[in-house]
Amino acid sequence: MASCSTSYASSSSWSGLSSRQSSAMGGSFAGAFHLHGSRRAQAQRRASHVVRADVDYYSVLGVDKSADKKAIKQAYRQKARKYHPDVNKDPGAEETFKQISNAYEVLSDDQKKSLYDRYGEAGLKNGMGGMGGSDMGGFNNPFDLFEQFFGSAGGRGGFGGGFGSGFGGAGGRSRAQQGEDEKYELKLDFLDAVFGANKEIDVSRLESCGPCTGSGIKSGTSATTCGTCGGSGQVVQAVRTPLGVFQQVMQCPTCDGVGEESTPCNTCGGDGRVRNSKKISLRVPAGVDAGSRLRVRGEGNVGRKGGEPGDLYVFISVKPHPAGLRREGTTIHSEVEISFVDAILGTTSKVTTVDGPVDLRIPAGTQPGTTLVMGKRGVPRLGQDSVRGDHQVHVRVTIPQRLSKEETKLVEELRQLQDNKSSKRSGIFSF
Ligand SMILES: [Zn+2]
Ligand SMILES: [Zn+2]
Repeated sequence: MASCSTSYASSSSWSGLSSRQSSAMGGSFAGAFHLHGSRRAQAQRRASHVVRADVDYYSVLGVDKSADKKAIKQAYRQKARKYHPDVNKDPGAEETFKQISNAYEVLSDDQKKSLYDRYGEAGLKNGMGGMGGSDMGGFNNPFDLFEQFFGSAGGRGGFGGGFGSGFGGAGGRSRAQQGEDEKYELKLDFLDAVFGANKEIDVSRLESCGPCTGSGIKSGTSATTCGTCGGSGQVVQAVRTPLGVFQQVMQCPTCDGVGEESTPCNTCGGDGRVRNSKKISLRVPAGVDAGSRLRVRGEGNVGRKGGEPGDLYVFISVKPHPAGLRREGTTIHSEVEISFVDAILGTTSKVTTVDGPVDLRIPAGTQPGTTLVMGKRGVPRLGQDSVRGDHQVHVRVTIPQRLSKEETKLVEELRQLQDNKSSKRSGIFSF
């Protein structure tokens, strides 16, 4: 059990994890490209529309030219999950993710694939019409494609349980990767939200796998140098296009650029992490409200390959108050009901506040709908406990529907008195 300090943000919407731009598809690619010397000049002379060489789509997906639809689909699934920017925090992961998406879009479409096979990307640009320019502006949003494949992952822009289970298969063995953030929904009693509380919560999250000590490699075996790339993690491939032969360096498809091959651990399937639950003692600060978000640093999912752990986000919701107190920021609202006689003569009324019952003086002559303010009986300001809001009591005056004989007599006398008073007044002022 760990005690954690928390920071908070009073916001009802999730904003951290899914800020994505779906604007430009262009930009720089992961691979490095060299034009053969004499071809370079030729290409520059001839080509007004294509200057840049792009990484080969088959290589992007790590499949063979002869790969069938099923293999292409499978490769896309695997790679897209690995590079999705929600789980992969490496710089450039998002760019890679877009490339994977673009590659799949072309290779999964018979017509585009056939154009691409014959003429490369230049063929696509001409053949698909209106797609000129160096940016491949005609592609769909890669995140839409991803969601078509894996389904929307539990609302809130891809954050949530869907990812936790969807990711964690193969891949990502190369570098340290930061762990994903984890989410927990905490429902607080009304007064716990007002004054803060210590809460023990059970958080489910990915922790380092015991048998392989987080390496993802089956215990008792060790990684061997990759036979395809000889350990460099990169392979060089020549690609023929109408503009000449491009030689490109790309990530080794066999080992995904790691340079090693290994037998995956049986327990974690090679991810190096397994899902466990952990008790966390959480200090909820006074003044939180429905929609507040607490961040517990480092208590999210553990990173891969020794990467930093993600954070735990606790989303707060609040139960209604049993005696009907309502809250609006740091202000508490409630109602008090008094008889018309008490409204006329004044009274003292027991009122429930967040501090317990208090006696409220209601002055003589209180009008229906009056709001009485009890200063500093409201909610402490989040992060500033000493500052408290007010409690506003809204006064309702009840008029009895039935009176006893005696009461009726008294009220009639009262009316008589008032009539006399007003006729005297009008006597004075009339001409
Ligand atoms: Zn390799
Ligand atoms: Zn393991």
